[in-house]
Amino acid sequence: MGDQNTYDAIVIGSGISGGWSAKELCDRGLKTLVLERGRNIEHIKDYPTATKNPWDFPHRMTEPAAIIKDNPVISKCYAFGEDTHHFFVKDAEHPYIQEKPFDWIRGYHVGGKSIMWGRACQRWSNFEFTAPMRYGYAVDWPIRYDDIAPWYSHVEKFAGICGGKDGLEAMPDGDYLPPFEFNCLEAEMQKKISAHYKDRFMVRTRWAHLTKPEPIHIQQGRGQCQARDLCTRGCPFGGYFSSVSSTLPWAKKTGNLTIRPFSVVHSIIYDDKKGKATGVRIIDANTKQSVEYFAKVIFVNAACLNSNLILLNSVSNRFPNGLGNDNGLLGKFIAFHNYRAGVRGTYNGFKDQYTFGRNPTSPMIANYRNLHKQDTDYIGGFLTFVWAARRGIFQDGSIEGIGADYKDSMTEPGPWQAGMYMQGETIPKETNHVRLSKDQKDPWGIPQLITSVAYDDNDDKMVKDFLEQSSEMMRVAGIENIVTHDTKQAPGLDIHEMGGCRMGNDPKTSLLNKHNQFHLCKNVFVTDGACMTTTGNQSPSILYMAFAARAANFAVDELKKGNL
Ligand SMILES: Cc1cc2nc3c(=O)[nH]c(=O)nc-3n(C[C@H](O)[C@H](O)[C@H](O)COP(=O)(O)OP(=O)(O)OC[C@H]3O[C@@H](n4cnc5c(N)ncnc54)[C@H](O)[C@@H]3O)c2cc1C
Repeated sequence: MGDQNTYDAIVIGSGISGGWSAKELCDRGLKTLVLERGRNIEHIKDYPTATKNPWDFPHRMTEPAAIIKDNPVISKCYAFGEDTHHFFVKDAEHPYIQEKPFDWIRGYHVGGKSIMWGRACQRWSNFEFTAPMRYGYAVDWPIRYDDIAPWYSHVEKFAGICGGKDGLEAMPDGDYLPPFEFNCLEAEMQKKISAHYKDRFMVRTRWAHLTKPEPIHIQQGRGQCQARDLCTRGCPFGGYFSSVSSTLPWAKKTGNLTIRPFSVVHSIIYDDKKGKATGVRIIDANTKQSVEYFAKVIFVNAACLNSNLILLNSVSNRFPNGLGNDNGLLGKFIAFHNYRAGVRGTYNGFKDQYTFGRNPTSPMIANYRNLHKQDTDYIGGFLTFVWAARRGIFQDGSIEGIGADYKDSMTEPGPWQAGMYMQGETIPKETNHVRLSKDQKDPWGIPQLITSVAYDDNDDKMVKDFLEQSSEMMRVAGIENIVTHDTKQAPGLDIHEMGGCRMGNDPKTSLLNKHNQFHLCKNVFVTDGACMTTTGNQSPSILYMAFAARAANFAVDELKKGNL
């Protein structure tokens, strides 16, 4: 083992969760190697479209048909376009096998999906941590809200999350910067909905935007969000949180961080005699050479499905079916978020008012289903995103004319429109799984992933309920011409895949303990979506950040005690 290949810690993946693992490990003094399969991205320098105008793009930001034809999966993502496509994988370059349709949306570069993410951040409440036990699905979470609350605060303060203080049981308040304000129609909807319902709370934005930077953000070299709403191109102001604007440069400043781009992790190396993992085997993306790196502690942060792939591919005499996988559950109980349904309509009023700036956030209604008791014919809850805007796309999907007609219509303010869309919990099932192909490999000689994940009846019932309830709330709020839709999209497009290496108290039914540490391989931690026992209804990434920070600090404490 060459010294130049030996570190205190290795982090696999440099996205949202890997950035946090690396920052905490470096802050605590560990020489840390981050292995990233894609190219390097440097904050500001590598955002080539960040300051371009629509007319600077040959196709005015719409992808040509040929690119969509060549990329049928990734082009379904709403954020994929002429201005952002350099941050998404090309379908043909990264094959996987869809036993059931699954739109796997990926960004392979330093920073991962933290560059293109939507930035919505709500805390889980105790309802979600106790729901599996109360309603009898998945397994009980090994932690409760109070275990993670201080770590939410830890990451919120550093990342900079804006939001209101609302005192809601189902959506706890965090350590937030001031929220973006409602526009006039949002304020009207909020007023009418709260007057009509005792249990439905529409709140102002909780998103990873620096509305009023604190000294800790200035120290990171970041500035106030300019409300340009061009976030997915990368923000030269550092106005939203990403690994490349925040955690990774911070970790670099400690002098303890090494990032190795173009390092496709193949597997974790397990030493049967030592009874622990000793390092990580990579394939250099360019030379295709295999290289080994060694460390005392390993963090797996390749994003849910890639983490499952790496762990399933980490076979040894002791673990012939994948790392820590004595119970055979690795890769199983994959779940995701139900993003199928939406409602929209028009508002006949506020004709003398307009919106100011481009608010990159939108309000949300906290989950109101199955909280204190099971009150629907399905399991789980949903969060409702709300939007209201002047102008935009008409009910039938058309725009406001073409050519001269379009220019003329632009001189008028256009109608107000409003909508709601769901982010629903899905229930982890053993049959929803991923596994490795026995005969098909990727260009780096690593087995391809097979996805076998689907929506079910529970999800259909939730969609029906969401559409009925949201249509009613829209009516209550004075919205007219309401139309509903169910996209019937495949799983994956929600980009919130979770599970496969779940946390739990019992090694017979889970892979990780309450510290995100393998029950059976104590020096390996998984702190991305793969660790999720259930999905809750909240946007998940802020919880991965909290898990990563919590587990990294625990790992350092354990190392110091000689326990790893
Ligand atoms: C358009 C869009 C909107 C979204 N909106 C939201 C939102 O509003 N709120 C929210 O909470 N979440 C949102 N998400 C999801 C969010 O981006 C992910 O939950 C989050 O990035 C996951 O963090 P991660 O660290 O697990 O993975 P990533 O951020 O994807 O990072 C994983 C990293 O691992 C690397 N990697 C993968 N395999 C290997 C390997 N074998 N070897 C080495 N490196 C590897 C990847 O290249 C990548 O850099 C959105 C995502 C997208 C794309």
